[in-house]
Amino acid sequence: MVLEPPYAGGVIALTTRHGKERALGRVFAVGLGARLQLCDQDTDQLGTFSGEIPRLQDAAATCRSKALLGMQATGLPLGLASEASFGPHPAMPMLPVGQELLLFLDQERDLCVLEQRLEWRTNYSHTLLEPHDSPDAWLRQVGFPTHGVIARPAEPQPGVLFKGLQCRAELTEALARCRRSDPDGRVWLETDMRAHCNPTRMRSIRRLGVALVRRLRSPCPKCGTPGWGLLDTKPGLPCSDCGTATELTLSEIWGCQQCGARREQSRRDGRLQADPGQCPWCNP
Ligand SMILES: [Zn+2]
Ligand SMILES: [Zn+2]
Repeated sequence: MVLEPPYAGGVIALTTRHGKERALGRVFAVGLGARLQLCDQDTDQLGTFSGEIPRLQDAAATCRSKALLGMQATGLPLGLASEASFGPHPAMPMLPVGQELLLFLDQERDLCVLEQRLEWRTNYSHTLLEPHDSPDAWLRQVGFPTHGVIARPAEPQPGVLFKGLQCRAELTEALARCRRSDPDGRVWLETDMRAHCNPTRMRSIRRLGVALVRRLRSPCPKCGTPGWGLLDTKPGLPCSDCGTATELTLSEIWGCQQCGARREQSRRDGRLQADPGQCPWCNP
């Protein structure tokens, strides 16, 4: 069934101060025929990056407030906002992950559609430099200078914080100032995760935009509202050797975020069995 995509010719308020229109503008223009109108409201009041992954509900609420802010400022009935947090993986603390959210609001339909992904490809990291440590190995690891970094004295000092460092000369200068301000000459370095300083994040946001547009183009088979798509997965794919249920996805739960309709269906990739290497019985 091919339908005229909803929101063709529409204008959507995008609340961002970090250049996310570069990642999303074309995706929404090509996929929905809609235009994004930038709203650079200060959203710092809604909280910024923290070192831990908040519960999805909290992150979604922040994202919703951001989108509403842009809709109020522009007077548009459609809004879009994104939110991310980074930290250690809840089950594997050595592994950094990002949680990326993109949320769409349609006031006229009273509709809220959320797209999210756990992002394994992230450069999220931090390090503490002793007075004579070189930052070079760490900088290579986090993709400097295409990816920005933040520097401050190990013991925070008012007014001595350098964000968005993306060139060697600026970084050297910032490191020297931080060392002078810290009682022990130590410097705290961390990756700057704001989208405009972080091409890896920009790519994540773009991928999320593609997924959200695909979802908005799919009407719910029950109520017709845009936004039909994957909501959850069910583990239990059987081992090809012994049939034991594994942690791998057995089926997908698709649904409507508006009327609550749900449908369980088999994996889109058609896979019916798990490799014995991933079986808790064959390969404990
Ligand atoms: Zn098995
Ligand atoms: Zn529905």
